[in-house]
Amino acid sequence: MQTDALRKLKEVYGYDSFRKGQSDIIEGVLHGTDTLAILPTGGGKSICYQLPAMLLPGTTIVVSPLISLMKDQVDTLNRLGVAAAYLNSSLDAAAYREVVRQTAEGAYKLLYVAPERLDSSMFDSLSSRMHIPLIAIDEAHCVSQWGHDFRPSYRQLAGWIGRLENRPPVAAFTATATPEVSEDIAAMLGLRKPNIFVTGFARTNLSLSVVTGTDKRKFLRDFITQRPDQSGIVYTATRKEAEEVCDDLSRLGVAVGKYHGGLNDDERADAQEKFRFDDYRVMVATNAFGMGIDKPNVRYVVHWQMPGDVESYYQEAGRAGRDGEESECVLLFEPQDVQVQRFLIDRSTGDPERKTIQLNKLYTMMHYSRSEKCLLQYIVKYFGESDVPECGKCSNCLDQSALIDTTEDARKALSCVGRLKGRFGISLASKVLKGSREKRILELGLDRLTTYGLMRSWPEKEISDLLYWLVAEGYLRISEGEYPTVSLTADALPVLEGKVAVQRRQSAAAKRRASSDGSAVAAANTPLFEALREWRRVTAAREHVPPFMLFFDAALREIADRQPVNTEQLMAVKGIGAAKASKYGLEVIAIVRQFKGEAAPDGGESLAAGEQAQSYAVVAERPAAAASAASAQVEPSVLAELEGLSSHMQSLSLLGMGHSISEIASIRGMGRVTIENHLLRCAQEGEELDMDAFIPQQYEAQIVDAIVQIGAEKLRPIKDALPEEVDYFAIKAVMVKHKLSPAAE
Ligand code: ADP
Repeated sequence: MQTDALRKLKEVYGYDSFRKGQSDIIEGVLHGTDTLAILPTGGGKSICYQLPAMLLPGTTIVVSPLISLMKDQVDTLNRLGVAAAYLNSSLDAAAYREVVRQTAEGAYKLLYVAPERLDSSMFDSLSSRMHIPLIAIDEAHCVSQWGHDFRPSYRQLAGWIGRLENRPPVAAFTATATPEVSEDIAAMLGLRKPNIFVTGFARTNLSLSVVTGTDKRKFLRDFITQRPDQSGIVYTATRKEAEEVCDDLSRLGVAVGKYHGGLNDDERADAQEKFRFDDYRVMVATNAFGMGIDKPNVRYVVHWQMPGDVESYYQEAGRAGRDGEESECVLLFEPQDVQVQRFLIDRSTGDPERKTIQLNKLYTMMHYSRSEKCLLQYIVKYFGESDVPECGKCSNCLDQSALIDTTEDARKALSCVGRLKGRFGISLASKVLKGSREKRILELGLDRLTTYGLMRSWPEKEISDLLYWLVAEGYLRISEGEYPTVSLTADALPVLEGKVAVQRRQSAAAKRRASSDGSAVAAANTPLFEALREWRRVTAAREHVPPFMLFFDAALREIADRQPVNTEQLMAVKGIGAAKASKYGLEVIAIVRQFKGEAAPDGGESLAAGEQAQSYAVVAERPAAAASAASAQVEPSVLAELEGLSSHMQSLSLLGMGHSISEIASIRGMGRVTIENHLLRCAQEGEELDMDAFIPQQYEAQIVDAIVQIGAEKLRPIKDALPEEVDYFAIKAVMVKHKLSPAAE
């Protein structure tokens, strides 16, 4: 049989060999076994039923939900000399009748049918007159409401198959099914002891990467400019973004087209055609673009935002490299993408069960974006295929940065989660570790836990990143549902007992840190700058003051740049006066010297930047007292020292000294709103300023939703959509924190 199939493959399609999985699937189908085949997009599913259809007597029925795909396939088959036709709503009555007549006469080897057509007495009577050797069901995940594209019409399939007098073997195909969905498909279609094939998900010609904390516009411009001869797709989440990104690239002189649901049919067809013929080198599109595109030489797919599930991501990313050539898939991930997707899910369905399913899919996608393991392996495992080696070329596999021992931090975090007894989510656990004074924490008495404030010196964002990382590593698990809680897994116990060490890639921590800051900073971060910041974090915690009280980021950046090795050079840095130089100068210079590989002034050993950061992290865990008391009185000498600084930095300094915003306004003789804008600007420039202090926590999600829904251009409509007590400053602070607006001043 196999030789027949191979001969037919060559004869009809002109291919010399089967792809991975194809021959096993075809053999099973030809043996009359029910089959569930899960092959990725482009994996070559069609041949798995078309070829048996040609070899078996009678007319194979192919159920497919996509009218355009049916037409394409039937046209292709006819060109290849295979008799095939379709029945769907695109045919007029006469054409429909003609196909029915010919079908009854056994004229076709394959008949494509839309699922809605099956549930009619007309179709039952047609089927009874046919010889059907095989039923192939394409896009079979549509039958499962656990899948990402449930279609009620698919639920009619089992009934129709059941009504057939001689039930033929059934072969179901899909590109996207987790083990859970596979089981559901088999049950919903009534498959009998099916052969299940999961194969070919590892598209080894794709290099996957996740990029976080970058200026996306700049990244994309550079990325595309550096690939002047290559064709690519940029996926955006919304039409508006598609328009904006397209405009931006077109200003850059790129031959770029756009494709989204807001364009009319002609415009879309035109764009698709131009892309196909390389008149457009780049297509910026929403997920409306894709069904049925088969352009083989797409060299890259960039996602402007994280999609809502791994299925969609891999399907879209998988449009790169269909010709088997090396291709790139880049996901630009920002933590706020999760909020946006949550919001979309909230709005899209009122059905709580469906919502839970979608939220869980979203969390899996989020874990991919944060994972530090082989990205290809992550995806392939998700689809249920095991034993695939690391790809060796995704952004995580290529991450050569050193592994650092994270056991102590992990133990603190795990022990805190353990004490919360699976009742709360990651955000609350992070707050407890941070030692937050938030009302909810105090009301719940969580400040009395022994693990309260154990990581006080860490930015809260980094704590939650660590917790998410522990989830990805399997030490913690997140429950399902709308309010996911975090708890320990069995793997956590050996770590807590000190029997197992935990290691983490050093770059991950730095990368995450960059992502929590302004993008301007992320671009400029060097290892020395990171080491200086680490030192500042630890020292500030020891002195119970916010980090920017010691040095501003701008000053640290300048130090990293100029690399001063004595006090005089240090004082040439803007914002460093005699007082700061005498207090911290030696320590800072020591770091610079160690970094440069010179002996430190105190004769200390020379450490690499990473080790430096690590050793500081270890001593960082001392609880800090509340910030120093506020007062509207300021010594003239203090004001004089601030003078060299830019105005917004002066406001930040005063905040760091413990003054409230109103006090700063009165000290500086400026309006409150001006001071607020100063602080927002500092945060945007990457100063370590915790926006949470300005955001009423109970409204944060609501504010994000309002911004996402209304757009960040105008504040007034956002303000109007929110409860009165939410002020403009809170809205702007949310924009800055979640980077929802490029310029939130
Ligand atoms: P899917 O439906 O799984 O997305 P298709 O059936 O459309 O994938 O196949 C994707 C592409 O791969 C098509 O261009 C097809 O002709 C080609 N293809 C399929 N099987 C083989 C094979 N054995 N050898 C070479 N090319 C193949």
